[in-house]
Formats: sequence, structure tokens, C-alpha cells
Amino acid sequence: MKVDEIFKTCEQPISFEMFPPKGELSLDVAREVCTGFSELAPDFISVTCSAGGSGNSGKTTEIAAMIRGDFSVPSVAHLTCQGLTAQGLAQKAEQMRAAGIENVLALRGDIVPGVEPGDYSFAKDIIPALVDGGFCVGAAAYPEGHIDCMDFQESLVHLKQKQDAGASFFVTQLFFENECFYRFRDAAEKAGITIPITCGIMPFLGKAQVSRMIFMCGASLPSPIIKLLARYEDDPAALRQAGIEYACAQLEDLKRNGADGLHVYTMNSQDIAAAAMGVLRK
Ligand code: FAD
Repeated sequence: MKVDEIFKTCEQPISFEMFPPKGELSLDVAREVCTGFSELAPDFISVTCSAGGSGNSGKTTEIAAMIRGDFSVPSVAHLTCQGLTAQGLAQKAEQMRAAGIENVLALRGDIVPGVEPGDYSFAKDIIPALVDGGFCVGAAAYPEGHIDCMDFQESLVHLKQKQDAGASFFVTQLFFENECFYRFRDAAEKAGITIPITCGIMPFLGKAQVSRMIFMCGASLPSPIIKLLARYEDDPAALRQAGIEYACAQLEDLKRNGADGLHVYTMNSQDIAAAAMGVLRK
């Protein structure tokens, strides 16, 4: 099923993001992860890919096809355009079509040093070809602006370009303060964004993960999280639990405040996915 149809028929779709597990047994491990996730009945699952074709990104299509084919859960395959040529895009689209993929999240990818430039500079540049190829296409949105873009209004212009190019839904980058999202939602509406924006929420699990995330994404770190990180510094299990509870409280608040959809960055963890579903589907 195409994700734009899901947004039309379901009031607040709940979705998960997973990544292709590392190592040779990637598909077997992914199958285990998907078995647990499918029991929670998310409205769709998206599968990341590594920028520039590194790591296990070759498995994205296979895993997204498995989610749809073997678990009957709609899936979204992420696709980054960094280093991609027009011929490469056509081949990728053909592979995805042959595997039965219906939905693609079109991305640029974080810049990977050493990747030869391709034919596309920005995510918006690959959207028209994917839409013409019959895919339902989503794109990334940044409630606090993209880290490389210093001007928030300019980031809204870039967002609108993705909608104008044919994107039919947005998934946000993680944020830890819902107020940031509500301000962004109002600004996006004023900027002419009309397609659904689903909120991406990731639990914090430790100091190292949080600092990697905030420097990678430019997301604000509110003081309640800093206090929790300090309180549970020496107790990783309690910190993980606190992070999951904080994310669940964010999700509940977003649900109450009419978010178009809720997308959980599961990091392939069943306890995170189950906790989120526990508060969202009660
Ligand atoms: P773009 O929309 O192309 O934007 C990139 C930068 O260019 C931004 O600063 C933007 O403001 C600027 N820009 C855009 N258009 C223009 C223009 N016309 N003129 C000038 N500047 C412009 N990365 C991965 O590698 N794999 C994944 O699977 C993955 N999944 C993600 C899923 C989600 C929901 C999100 C939010 C991010 C994901 N990322 C992933 C990270 C993403 O690739 C990075 O954030 C990347 O730096 C930007 O990707 P983008 O698609 O938003 O790029």
C-alpha cells in the first residue's frame, strides 16, 4: 500500500524506522527484527540506507521488500542521491520496482568525504523521476532547520521545493522538544506545506548517543534531558528506561496535539517499538 493512501485512510499513522543490520547475517537479523515489529502492527516501516552506497545500504531494498511481502506491512525504502548518476537512479528505481517497493523516502544523505559527485545536488532533484516511475515519495523535514542551513525561513523554502517536486509526505528529523515541532508546523503551514508531516521521535539512550545526534542534526537538548543524563550517568539501564519514557511522553503529547503521524526511530529495538505502541494504541 502506498503511504499517501495510508495518510488518507488512517487518522494518525504510526510507523517505525529500522536500519539494515550490520554483518553477513543482515537479512536473517532483519527478519527477526521485523517479526517482532509486525506483531505490533505499525502502519508502515521505513528502512534506512547508508549515504554514498557505503555499509549495508544494498540491503535496504531487500529488507523493505521482505517487510511488505513476508509480513504484509507497508514499507518505505530510503534512497540517498549523493554520488548518484541519472543512470544509477534509473537502475535503482528498476530494482525497487522489480522487488515490489511502492514507497521511497528521497534523501540527499549526509556528505561522505571521497564520494564522487553525481548528477544530483539535493533530495528534491530525484523526486520527479521517482514519482514518474510510479513511486509514492516522501522526504525529510527539519523542525529546527537542517544543520547546514543557518536560515530557518530558507529551510522552509527548501522544504516547499520538495513538496513542489512531487513529495507526498514528510518525515521529520528527531527533536526533543515538542514546542519546536509545533512552531515548525505553524511556519510550514504558512509556507504552503499541505502534505502530511509525520513526527520522527528517537529516545535518548546515553550521553554519547545524544551528543552524536545533536551535533549531527543540530537538535536542541532541553534541560530535563540534561538532568536525566546527569542523574543516571552511572546506571545505563535506568537511563535507557528514562529515555524511552521521555520519548513515549513526547509521542503521547504529539498524538493529543493532532500530529499527522508518529514515526518511531526504533534503532531496531523491540522494547522501544513496543513501548511506543503501548502508549499510542491504548
Ligand atoms: P536536502 O533536502 O537535499 O537538503 C540538504 C541541504 O541542502 C540542506 O541544508 C538544505 O537546506 C539545502 N538545500 C536543499 N535544497 C536546496 C536548494 N535548492 N538550494 C540550496 N540549498 C538547498 N541519511 C542517510 O544517509 N540515510 C538514510 O536512510 C537517512 N534517512 C533519513 C530519514 C529522515 C526522516 C531524516 C530526517 C534524515 C535522514 N537521513 C538519512 C539524513 C539526511 O540524509 C541528512 O540530514 C542530509 O544531510 C540531508 O538530507 P535531505 O534529504 O534533507 O537533503
